[in-house]
Amino acid sequence: TQAKPKYKRVMLKISGEALMGDQGFGLHPPTVERIAREVKSVRDLGVEICMVIGGGNIFRGLQGSAQGMERTTADYMGMLATVMNALAMQSALEGMGVFCRVISAIRMDEVAEPYIRRRAVRHLEKGRVCIFAAGTGNPYFTTDTAATLRANEMACEAIFKGTKVDGVYDKDPMKASDAVRYEDITYDDVLVKNLKVMDASAIALARDNDLPIIVFSLDEPGGFRGILAGEGTYTIVH
Ligand code: UDP
Repeated sequence: TQAKPKYKRVMLKISGEALMGDQGFGLHPPTVERIAREVKSVRDLGVEICMVIGGGNIFRGLQGSAQGMERTTADYMGMLATVMNALAMQSALEGMGVFCRVISAIRMDEVAEPYIRRRAVRHLEKGRVCIFAAGTGNPYFTTDTAATLRANEMACEAIFKGTKVDGVYDKDPMKASDAVRYEDITYDDVLVKNLKVMDASAIALARDNDLPIIVFSLDEPGGFRGILAGEGTYTIVH
């Protein structure tokens, strides 16, 4: 008998870089497929899934503006990059028979649905994965904030932040071998200690709405599903 999943509706946030594999840039379709399989395995538990994918594998507004581009234009380019990533994920999920909608914060009706909250909720109720693209639709924000915003709007019970490591550490575990992982930590500690979980505005938005953030490793096969089944290592920010 399958235990009841820990949460009924969740937001999965991944960075654009998670989709580039070892290439250093852009999209690596086998990597997109690997992540899509992880998503499908959680969908198969009956969990309703929202997703936000960053755009950093293609374009980051801050980098563009540091090189002389006008900031808001550069940010719109970053938002468009997230749409490409969302379409790649949609394609991989649909290839596995998972019904899926890309919902864009910037209207582009030929490419993706516009964001209409009640309609998105309906998709979730019908078991479709909703990928929220184009961030919040506003420059000066990040996809971490977009994920937190949509998670609140969709009444998700938690945000799953997929990273390269299995939680939040007191120092960078890639650099320091004595880094210690937190089992759980408060939003305020994340902010005060300036730990790299999500950017400060996203953490504050999660805190103000009591939305737990679960930081886990996307590189661990079956890890996402395991946490929903009550196993595995991760850090919960709450
Ligand atoms: N962006 C934006 N508003 C948003 C979300 C994203 O302007 O609401 C732009 C911003 O320029 C950002 C880029 O889109 O650098 C890509 O998003 P992000 O850096 O969050 O991607 P990630 O680091 O998660 O891959």
